[in-house]
Amino acid sequence: MVAQIINGNEVAKSIRAELKEEIAGMKMSGVTPGLVVIIVGEDPASQVYVRKKGEACVELGIDSETIRLPAETTEQELLDLIEKYNNDKKFDGILVQLPLPKHINEQNVLLRIDPSKDVDGFHPVNVGKMVVGAEDCYLPCTPHGIQELLVRSGNDPKGKHVVVIGRSNIVGKPITNILLQKAPGADATVTICHSRTQNMSGFTKQADILIAAIGVPNFVKADMVREGVVVIDVGVNRINDPTAKNGTRLVGDVDFESVKEKAKAITPVPGGVGPMTITMLMKNTVKAAKIHHNLKK
Ligand code: NAP
Repeated sequence: MVAQIINGNEVAKSIRAELKEEIAGMKMSGVTPGLVVIIVGEDPASQVYVRKKGEACVELGIDSETIRLPAETTEQELLDLIEKYNNDKKFDGILVQLPLPKHINEQNVLLRIDPSKDVDGFHPVNVGKMVVGAEDCYLPCTPHGIQELLVRSGNDPKGKHVVVIGRSNIVGKPITNILLQKAPGADATVTICHSRTQNMSGFTKQADILIAAIGVPNFVKADMVREGVVVIDVGVNRINDPTAKNGTRLVGDVDFESVKEKAKAITPVPGGVGPMTITMLMKNTVKAAKIHHNLKK
């Protein structure tokens, strides 16, 4: 079987084109969505993500501001800053880049963000709304991106058995909740596996759609899946590769080369789930602006 390669760059591009048009329309009614991104410290990967978020805002016409704070910033200083942006009508979305330095309690910070501006979808109010399927919630960006990838690549999860490996709060648990909703683009039967799951292959071989979000390079092998499976690889792992220019390369949680021989469709790493995450952040920011300005969906 020759697998369809699900191209995240292409899907993200088409969603961005839709958003750009939508934002242009909103501007005609005097509304420009605004996003503030706050980063604490110098983590190099986080710096890259934050820069990309700013660039995406510029590309789409979203007003954005990036606040760079030193690693010594206290928790109270960060909470005060969030409070300031909670009350600033210019900004519809507030994103605090994770991870935070160890002396800052992440949960306290996420709880301080006004849920109506929580475009990352991590506030417990939005998590609860996601679980009950409320329309006005902001879905977390990576799992929401996975759902869009499935639907837009012609692999609607409706009625399918989805097996998720990984139960983190940012990927595994939310994608499970999103895909089991009684709603378009969902309606799946979902099984979730993790590090304590026994006989993992017994579950993964039953999957019509397999979503791997583990953080273990090339974990899913061809003998763990059945012919015709649709595979979404969320993993981003850097491994040594003496043949690569800088001696390393990125791989996913799925052994792409062997699994693609059995799969009906599969996402590559990089170029699969990755490009969707920031795009869905943009989508949430637009949604926030519509909610704040009582615009039609
Ligand atoms: P995480 O918080 O470390 O969670 C990993 C999950 O995988 C945990 O539930 C863990 O089980 C499970 N797990 C780990 N080793 C396992 C094993 N050997 N067998 C079965 N289950 C195992 O990771 P995450 O934040 O969800 O991220 C997962 C991967 O996705 C990472 O590579 C990350 O870089 C990537 N990611 C990519 C994007 C993107 O935009 N493309 C976004 C987020 C994350 P326990 O709960 O039992 O410990």
